[in-house]
Amino acid sequence: MSVNDSPNACSRGYNPRLRRPAAMDFRLKRDLRLATLFMSLGCASVVLLTAWQIWTIRQESLRHTEINTLNLARALNTHTEGVFKQCELLLLDLGNEVEADGTGPAQLQHLSKLIALQKEALPQVNSIALYDERGDWLLSSQGRVPAGTEGADRDFFSYHREHPGRSIYIGEPIRSRTTGDWVISVSQRLERPDGSFAGVVAVGVSLQYFLGLYRDIEIGKTGAIGLTTSTGRLLVRYPFDEKDIGLDLSGSPLISQALKDAPYATASYSSKRDGTPRIYAFVRSDRYALVTGVAMGRDEALQSWQRQALQTIVVVALLLAILGLLGRRLVRSIRQRIRSERQLRDTQKRLLELNQELEALASQDSLTGLANRRHFDEYLEKELLRSRRDGSALSLLLVDVDYFKAYNDHYGHPAGDRCLQQIADILRGSARRPADLVARYGGEELALVLPETDAEGARHFAEQLLVRLRRAQIPHAGSPFRIVTASFGVATVHADSERPTSLQLIDEADRCLYQAKQDGRNRWVMALAQVSARTQ
Ligand code: GH3
Ligand code: MG
Ligand code: MG
Repeated sequence: MSVNDSPNACSRGYNPRLRRPAAMDFRLKRDLRLATLFMSLGCASVVLLTAWQIWTIRQESLRHTEINTLNLARALNTHTEGVFKQCELLLLDLGNEVEADGTGPAQLQHLSKLIALQKEALPQVNSIALYDERGDWLLSSQGRVPAGTEGADRDFFSYHREHPGRSIYIGEPIRSRTTGDWVISVSQRLERPDGSFAGVVAVGVSLQYFLGLYRDIEIGKTGAIGLTTSTGRLLVRYPFDEKDIGLDLSGSPLISQALKDAPYATASYSSKRDGTPRIYAFVRSDRYALVTGVAMGRDEALQSWQRQALQTIVVVALLLAILGLLGRRLVRSIRQRIRSERQLRDTQKRLLELNQELEALASQDSLTGLANRRHFDEYLEKELLRSRRDGSALSLLLVDVDYFKAYNDHYGHPAGDRCLQQIADILRGSARRPADLVARYGGEELALVLPETDAEGARHFAEQLLVRLRRAQIPHAGSPFRIVTASFGVATVHADSERPTSLQLIDEADRCLYQAKQDGRNRWVMALAQVSARTQ
């Protein structure tokens, strides 16, 4: 058995962690994958949630603006109905007076006073006029009727001439012939008792009145408020532009279609007029053929949402950046740990190898490569204990080279060393069983521990060694045999005998060796009696 095969060598420096490097690597790599996965999932969820929340708030903002716009349109519609209702009552009063009392000079004077009073009481009224059946002016709120002016060419006049009935007619905006201002004409037919056409009484509702009203309402820079007829003819729009007056909006799907069936409609689209996206609300009047429309700029409505969304995005981006940095540090530290673990394992492995090498060196003889004396002592002690435990036999051979001093003297010390190496090789080659140990006992003395070998086996072994040594034919000029020979002392512990100590066994083998020398060398001597504690 070689020194490196010794079971002792491997049992020291054992580290159980070294048995599972692959498992550790797998665990750390799995941790790394999980950390990366969780972080990616976390970031993706935060981004998705934030986007969803921002979108929801945007939709809410638009819905609120739509509701506010519609409410405003409703309130303005109610107000507008009131304005026209007052005009209708005024027309009804005047019509009744004329129809009952006629248009004589005294009656016209009385009516003039009445009109002046009414005009003062109603801020929306710009002018009031009375026409006879030919369209000639009978009376005006401005007092003096301009010479040659008549109303026969007015749209409302021809309407009433051709449409019997008391209902009022709201016409398109026109310029008043008495004041020169833009007005919406509200008129009523006058009839004789037989129902024939007797003229028209008309009120001019000032556009400025509506513009003043709309101006006071906060609708932002891109908002708009307007009043149209139910057929889509624009009466007044704020912000005001004279070109808009009488504009035909009947093409708008909201005004022409949606309002036919429903009292109100809302929509969001970009204006054809200026391309501005707006949120629209239109309310149809129940009493008059009028539609009130309010529009709010969509971008303005979304301004506060945009600010809020920007703040949220900045905060979330910062949080994600922090999360990303922390995650990167975590991944780095796991990677670093994987590297450190590997380095640690490599170092431990190297240390273990070095330890084994050192241990082998510490138990090896440097010249012959055999086990040294220290290892021999330990091994013999251990095998004796084992043979005692198992009740097995054990033999010890002590070998001493004959006339070796003379060999050194003749061939020189280095040659003596080489000769010792040759003899060690022969012994090593003979001890084939794994448990056999060949050691350098000291100087040119070698020893063999042969566990589970009885006296007969040991004798046979010694005989074989003698033969092999002779066959090697190593020249030795200083020896009477002319070749290198050796003497053997053999001691055996029998299977059933009482166990000696290692010292007692060595003593016995040494005694036999001495006897072999005495008997002429180049031979083996075996203890006749079995070695036991009593040998001493
Ligand atoms: P004997 O037959 O009685 O054993 O005679 P011997 O000359 O072998 O006996 P002795 O014990 O007097 O001499 C042993 C010699 O072995 C002395 C020493 O120089 C030599 N020797 C011991 N160890 C070594 C070694 O490592 N190398 C060499 N070259 N010689 C050694
Ligand atoms: Mg000797
Ligand atoms: Mg000798």
